[in-house]
Amino acid sequence: MKNTRKNTSKNAEISTEKNISVALAQIRQRISAAERRFNRAPNSVQLLAVSKTKPVTAIQIAIEAGQCCFAENYLQEAVKKIMYFKNPQLIWHFIGSIQSNKTRDIAQLFQWAHTIDRIKIARRLNEQRPDHLPPLNICLQINISGENSKSGIAPDELIQLANDCSSLANIKIRGLMAMPAQDSDLERQRIPFRELKRLFTELQSTHPELDTLSMGTTNDLEAAIAEGATIVRIGTAIFGSRNY
Ligand SMILES: *Cc1c(COP(=O)(O)O)cnc(C)c1O
Repeated sequence: MKNTRKNTSKNAEISTEKNISVALAQIRQRISAAERRFNRAPNSVQLLAVSKTKPVTAIQIAIEAGQCCFAENYLQEAVKKIMYFKNPQLIWHFIGSIQSNKTRDIAQLFQWAHTIDRIKIARRLNEQRPDHLPPLNICLQINISGENSKSGIAPDELIQLANDCSSLANIKIRGLMAMPAQDSDLERQRIPFRELKRLFTELQSTHPELDTLSMGTTNDLEAAIAEGATIVRIGTAIFGSRNY
């Protein structure tokens, strides 16, 4: 139906609300379709909603549509949102780059951090994790496409970092995370994800408790699911494009 009414702010709100819940339903369908197409078990891929730069009103709509896992990149912004909701049902994942001065808030407020690429950061998170909370779940970030501009360790540094982290009682290594170079072709997108999966399987031989491959975004989630993603991190397809 064509909307010929005046676009009052009330209407604009209603349409955003509808868009986010419709978009969430569509992305869940995209994930299920990829699970079927690539012979993955149903519901083996978790949807992480990347809400960076988006207002709490947008997050609220996603919560009402059944979403409970959210990811943020910018710490100050994330802290405000977490404090605003104060909702123990929500699970917050930190996916931005981590400097030393950010570790305390991450250790206190988040359940997951996906971007660990230095033992120094892991040690600080371990020390600062409050005793009354379960261990902080972490993923080790790999610079899988070898880009100069990207954070993450080189693949040959992985075993050392994993071994060093595994002695820290207040953090728990769950798996690997990567953000490969952009590519529009499914088969080419699959190559770095396949490599991440290979590193993951190799690491599982000495760390059998690992269960998480955090890979795939709006543009490449099918390729990531084809290669074994267990968490996809989706922003744009749920909340629309971002204005920085
Ligand atoms: C922003 C971001 C995403 C989400 O990307 P979209 O293309 O918006 O789905 C996923 N992972 C990381 C690390 C990000 O910074």
